Amino acid sequence: MPNAASIAIDGPVASGKTAVGQRLASRLGWRFIDTGSMYRAVTLAALERGVPTDDGDALTDLAGCLEMKLVTDASGGRLLVGGKDVTDDLKGAAVERGVSQVSSVSGVREALVRQQRSVADGGSIVMVGRDIGTVVLPTADLKVYLTASAEVRARRRHLEVSRGDSPPGYRQVLDDLRRRDALDSGRADSPLRRAEDAVEIDTAGLDIDGVAEAILSLLESS
Ligand code: C5P
Repeated sequence: MPNAASIAIDGPVASGKTAVGQRLASRLGWRFIDTGSMYRAVTLAALERGVPTDDGDALTDLAGCLEMKLVTDASGGRLLVGGKDVTDDLKGAAVERGVSQVSSVSGVREALVRQQRSVADGGSIVMVGRDIGTVVLPTADLKVYLTASAEVRARRRHLEVSRGDSPPGYRQVLDDLRRRDALDSGRADSPLRRAEDAVEIDTAGLDIDGVAEAILSLLESS
């Protein structure tokens, strides 16, 4: 069994981070933290409280006072905000539209990165996001950057959302994904990018188990 105590997984929208991270964590018996859900929770709270998603000061205050708790259950990670399970509300269209703007606010990032590091202090953790290898856990034992073309990722996301009511078409999904990637990669604070010492894995021809196996092999040899 490897000695590593933290794995950082980053990548763009629908690159497979969450599914792969969950699978890895359950194989290793480690904790799993999806940091995207935290940015989504701040966005959801802002929408519910009428805080404009371009008001950086108000968003910073909000992020600083939200009491978040990540718990793992059989279905994966759940996020409680002020004791209420908000997991199922985090994937809604309004949150999806606003989250990249909210996550570009430095004060929001500071508040969440502080919490993420404190959770990771306990070790044995798989953490996924956009800036885990570069900012949150720069000394992670293993860093992985997942990629796939925008079209491959959009097809995956389209399949996922097509199970819901009045799903968007493929073209809409592709446009939204490109817009979010551009915002996440182009922001000034902690933009999405591969850490220099991260191993890049193209997930296009691989299923979840295939990617998880590839990462486990890297871990064994790290
Ligand atoms: O991974 P997910 O799509 O749920 O992330 C939602 C959004 O949260 C991303 O598009 C990005 O704007 C933001 N995010 C971030 N840093 C992270 C994780 C997510 O800025 N570590």
